[in-house]
Amino acid sequence: MTLPSTDTRVSYPDGDTVSTGTVLHVEPLADGRSAVVLDRTAFHPVDTAWPDQPADRGRMRWGAAEAQIVGGVTGGIHDGELLLGRELPVRMGTPEWTFVVGHVIEGEAPEVGAEVEVSVDEGYRHALSAGHTGCHLASLALDAALAEAWTKAVSTDALGAPGFDAAAIQTSRIEEFGSTDVYRIGKSLRKKGFDVTALDDLDAVAARANAALAAWVASGASVRIERDGDAISARRTWVCALPDQEARIPCGGTHLAGLDAVEAITVALEATDVEGGRELRMRTTISLRG
Ligand SMILES: [Zn+2]
Repeated sequence: MTLPSTDTRVSYPDGDTVSTGTVLHVEPLADGRSAVVLDRTAFHPVDTAWPDQPADRGRMRWGAAEAQIVGGVTGGIHDGELLLGRELPVRMGTPEWTFVVGHVIEGEAPEVGAEVEVSVDEGYRHALSAGHTGCHLASLALDAALAEAWTKAVSTDALGAPGFDAAAIQTSRIEEFGSTDVYRIGKSLRKKGFDVTALDDLDAVAARANAALAAWVASGASVRIERDGDAISARRTWVCALPDQEARIPCGGTHLAGLDAVEAITVALEATDVEGGRELRMRTTISLRG
């Protein structure tokens, strides 16, 4: 059994939701499931190392057969071994690994060499794309809202503000028309020069972030994904042409094509005490026009 030696070519960064590909490998999984690896796909899998955007939903058809795709994971091939999902020990793009999309299906699987059509649930994808675009903008708005809270120089974000998001993020979860980001406010953040009293009046922080978001939404800025190639491991960048400056953030997910379709993006902030510090939770909601 020969495993693929080239990365899966992916078209979801361009917004595609339908693709035709050839089966390169079928990996048996527990519970009668299998992971189907194709040469190309429009199906967005959840990334193992940074699982922010969930996998698409969709179906796979070949000949007279079809199957629901119940999951999508990233996989890596190294030394003749395929490691899928949580087993994958390296980040996407690590040299000398081949990276693939594993389409998880139940029951009968197509054979190696079969031609397969993949169709992605467009409504769900659209809702996640909206959530992901809102998430990026909310992180920039939060950084701007906390820009005065730093007493030392810290790495800056895509708009030149001190990077609170990058310094404190623990988890980021994209949802349908929203996202939830969790930040850790502890000793290491204080050492980097973050004044935690900036979070005493969270309503004021949220108001500043929401004002920035409202201005960006009103600009109707275009959004695009730039990429070095169509391999899943190729470097991709989210680019949003905001009025004052183009924001560029490395990103493997899917997005809206622009903010002209957006009615509003708002954030709500909540802090809780945890051992050794506090946890800040930002819930972002994005609504579309019409
Ligand atoms: Zn992203």
